[in-house]
Amino acid sequence: MKRIIVLILVLLLCTTSATAASFDPHKATAYMDIKFECGCWGTGTGAMVGRHGLITCAHNLCCPTHGKWYKSITFVFGAKSANSGQKKVSSGFQAWVYDTFQNGYNSEDDIGYVVFNKPIGDSTGWFATHAASDTDVEFTFANVYFYDLEGHYNTVQQLLNVVSDKQLVLDKNPFAGEGAPITIREQGNDYPVVVGVYTNPTGYGEGFARRLTNNVFNDMEGDGAFR
Ligand SMILES: [Zn+2]
Repeated sequence: MKRIIVLILVLLLCTTSATAASFDPHKATAYMDIKFECGCWGTGTGAMVGRHGLITCAHNLCCPTHGKWYKSITFVFGAKSANSGQKKVSSGFQAWVYDTFQNGYNSEDDIGYVVFNKPIGDSTGWFATHAASDTDVEFTFANVYFYDLEGHYNTVQQLLNVVSDKQLVLDKNPFAGEGAPITIREQGNDYPVVVGVYTNPTGYGEGFARRLTNNVFNDMEGDGAFR
């Protein structure tokens, strides 16, 4: 009887502590293979931030040159990793963007999101997210999780600076992985917190990021990203 109680206690401890300990940012981050209606194609990065929601840049969803929407996207979570395992999703989702680039590319509103019909997050896990204040992000080190053009996973540490209430600048350009989550650590939170997405390089070898504002967060919530 005593042994059974000990076993139950051990099981209880395992289940309550497993979630944060087993979170794998690689698996919660998707390599995106994108084809647009105009015939263009691209690759990028997106990150799960809820059971149903993925955050990325707008130009992974809408062609930045021709302003045409995606025709197809394959999301590969945990790409090219035997340890993480892979999960591929290419249907059953809807997407929203904050710029459709009708007047050419502009990084200021280069953010968008995807809501999957199925709770993809149950198998990938997901990052924490909320809108961050200027003081949360100014001169703060961030981890960026991204895939390069060949789909190889990488992480890079970046020093953040505030450009405006919509944009941040990174001290280094990750050179690939546009749409990648910009994450900070927060006291009392076991998960990295996504505060924006990497959008494009500046002319000085730095990178711009679009902030995840309250507006974006509330829209995602309204569209069922966190349900
Ligand atoms: Zn195009």
